[in-house]
Formats: sequence, structure tokens, C-alpha cells
Amino acid sequence: MVESLSDDAGQAFSTDRLLQHPAMAATLIALSKVRTRDLVLPPQIHDAYLEHTRHTRTKINAGWMLWAAALNILCCALAFFIVPPGALEQVVVARIAISLVLALGAGAIFLARRSDVEGLLTIAVCLAVVALAGFMAEQARQHFAERYVVHAIFMCGTAIVISRIAWRDTVALTTSVMTALAILMATSPTADLSIAEKLQMAAFFGVGLIGLALAKRAMNKLQYRVFVLGLVDRLKMAEIEEMNGRLHAIARTDALTAVSNRRGFDEAYAALQGRPERGQCAVLMMDIDHFKGLNDTRGHAAGDECLRAVAGVISGELRHSRDLLARFGGEEFVAILPEVDGQQALSIAERIRAAVEARGVANPAAPGGVLTLSVGVAVSPPAAIERLVARADAALYEAKSGGRNAVRLAAPPAALRVA
Ligand code: GH3
Ligand code: MG
Ligand code: MG
Repeated sequence: MVESLSDDAGQAFSTDRLLQHPAMAATLIALSKVRTRDLVLPPQIHDAYLEHTRHTRTKINAGWMLWAAALNILCCALAFFIVPPGALEQVVVARIAISLVLALGAGAIFLARRSDVEGLLTIAVCLAVVALAGFMAEQARQHFAERYVVHAIFMCGTAIVISRIAWRDTVALTTSVMTALAILMATSPTADLSIAEKLQMAAFFGVGLIGLALAKRAMNKLQYRVFVLGLVDRLKMAEIEEMNGRLHAIARTDALTAVSNRRGFDEAYAALQGRPERGQCAVLMMDIDHFKGLNDTRGHAAGDECLRAVAGVISGELRHSRDLLARFGGEEFVAILPEVDGQQALSIAERIRAAVEARGVANPAAPGGVLTLSVGVAVSPPAAIERLVARADAALYEAKSGGRNAVRLAAPPAALRVA
């Protein structure tokens, strides 16, 4: 069952909101698999279709009326050369009246911009066209009568084909035009035709109009199909974009610890190097102490668990929106801290080191029996960002050789040292 999609104001949902609605998205996908001729849009989707096509639809519907009005004005001008003087005045008046009715209809369509109003107006102006054609036939006498009837049928035929009105309105238009034409043939100067001639005319034009209406129905179905396929296309594109986003994230995430992986770090580091104007930043290189011993004594699975715990502790000490933490490899982590100076970087590193120790993870291979971390810190002014990781790594080496469970700050780059 299709859920209600109308908002509080009773307004039809836009296609955007239709796509965000899971039940509607499923219905659209199901509809895309239905054969074109069996395609029936559920009310909510049909409303969205009407909303989506409103601008083009009103332009086409009003455009048909303006085109028909222009054609009548042209016929009005040509009437001066064709119509016998006795009937000329009435024919010209009738042509101008038809043009006015059509122009008013076009204006009303632009004002209303509603599918049902457009359907009713199209039927009304077509009936007016037939009525005035009857009047002209009457005035122009016997040998012109058929011409005006044929003109009216042609006009109504184009309305059936061109106008973007609902199927229900197309059926009403076709039947009412056929009824009006039948009345016209029975009562106007064409009444002089024999029964056989009348039957021939009725059969010819009746079948023609029904054929046009059926062709119109097929066109409507094709337009529904284009609409549905367009929406399904957008659904699929959104799905692909979402999957791409997920793949992008997975490709840059370390599966064990859920922090960024080496690829994520390399990209962030490259981006940092590409934007030295962002100011001072720090890199922390962190390595778990005596981790091989922990693996050897407690097993690899416990080692993995410790890596996850350490990643969680480090993350907890960083600014999530600005800093990047990555697993550099093995039991080494690296963090990029934008816009921090040496003092701030040292205090953050010290906080991380203390937090890991305070976590109290057992490491039988470490002198204190708990898992600890050594940290090398390098801070860089924009001019020397290239060697930041190498300098942090050197500082880490110093922390290790100084006894581990320690923080060391790298010396400033040689180029910047005061002589
Ligand atoms: P140091 O204090 O000098 O850093 O000594 P260490 O034992 O931590 O350093 P070493 O480089 O000798 O050992 C690193 C160990 O980390 C070796 C390897 O078994 C372990 N390791 C690397 N990656 C993983 C992993 O994904 N899971 C587990 N459980 N262990 C890992
Ligand atoms: Mg190591
Ligand atoms: Mg280590």
C-alpha cells in the first residue's frame, strides 16, 4: 500500500521528496519494470508527475490554443478571397469569435496552471470551435458547409494529439466533440447529404478521432515511463554516489582500529603540504613500547585488542573535527594536528602518553607491567612542512632510546635554526 505523501498543507510532494521516501522509491523501481502499456501511476506519484510537468504542460496547452487562434485569424484574412460576399461578414465575425475564445482559454490556462482546469478548458474551447463552425457552415451555404466541419474536426484532432490533458479528459473531449459533430451533421446544411454520405463522414471522422485519442493514450504512457525511468535513474545515481562515498571511506579506514589508515594519512599529509598558508601544525609519531613481547606473551588476538584500545585512547585526546589520527603501520600511530605550536603539541602528546599508561592494559613484557607509548613530536612552520614526518620519527627514536614511555620534541629544521 502506498503511504500518504501529502504534507500538512495538502500540497503534492516534489520529485525530490518522493525520492527520499523509501516506500515511494520501492514503488518507482517496481513501476520501472511494468510494461509501458500497463503503466498506471499511483495517486502520489501521479501528483508528483503533474507537479513536475506543470510548466511544460501549461505552455503546451496554452500554446495549442494560441496556435489555433492564429490559424483562425489567418483563415479570417483568407476568407476575404474565398467566401461569397453575402456570408463574408458572418464568417469573419465567427472566426474572430473563435480566436477570442481560444485566446481567453490560453490566458485562463496561464492563470490557473491546474491540470483539471486545463482539461475542462480544452473541452470547452473545442466545443466552441465546433459550434462556431456550424454557424459558419450555415452562413456560407451548402457548398461550403463541409469545409467548416472539416476545419473544426482538424482543430479538435490536433487538440486531442497536442494538448497535455489527462486521459479521462481526452476521453471526454473525444466523445463530446463526436457528439457535437453528429448534432451538427444532423441539423446544419450538411443535413442535405444522403444517409450513406453522412454515415461515411461519421465513420471516417469518428474512427479518426478515436484513433487519435488512442495514440494520445500511448503517448501519455510513454511520458509516464520517461518520468518513472528518470526518477529511477536519479535513485540509482544517488545509490552509486552513496556507495562511492562508503568505498572511499573504507579505502581510507584501518579495518582493525577504525582510525584512518596509511592511505588516508598520506592524502591528508599531501593536502597539508599543498596548503602551507594554513599555518603551523604538528605531527605526533607514536609507537607502542615492547609490543612484540606483548604479542609473544598474551597472544596475537590480545595484541589486536590492545591496538584497538590504544587507538581509542589516542582518539579521545584529539580534536575530532580538526586532527587526523592514522595507523601508520604495525603498532605505530601518527596524528596530524593543524594550527598548534610546539608547547601545545608537547602537552597534547604528554596527555596521550599519560592516558595510555593510565588505561592500565597489561603488558607482561614491559618493565612496569602495563602498556605504554613513546611519542615523537615535530612542529613545523609552513616553510618546512616537507620533513615533518621524518623529524617526528627521529624524535620518536630519541624517546625510545631514552627509555620509552616518553615524549620528545624534534629540533627545529636546520634551515630555520638560529646560527
Ligand atoms: P619497541 O618498544 O622498540 O617499539 O619494541 P616493539 O616490540 O614494540 O617493536 P617491534 O618493532 O620489535 O615489534 C612490533 C610488533 O608489532 C611486531 C609485530 O608482531 C607487532 N604487530 C604489528 N602489527 C600487528 C598487528 O596488526 N596485530 C598485532 N597483534 N601485532 C602486530
Ligand atoms: Mg614499531
Ligand atoms: Mg613498538
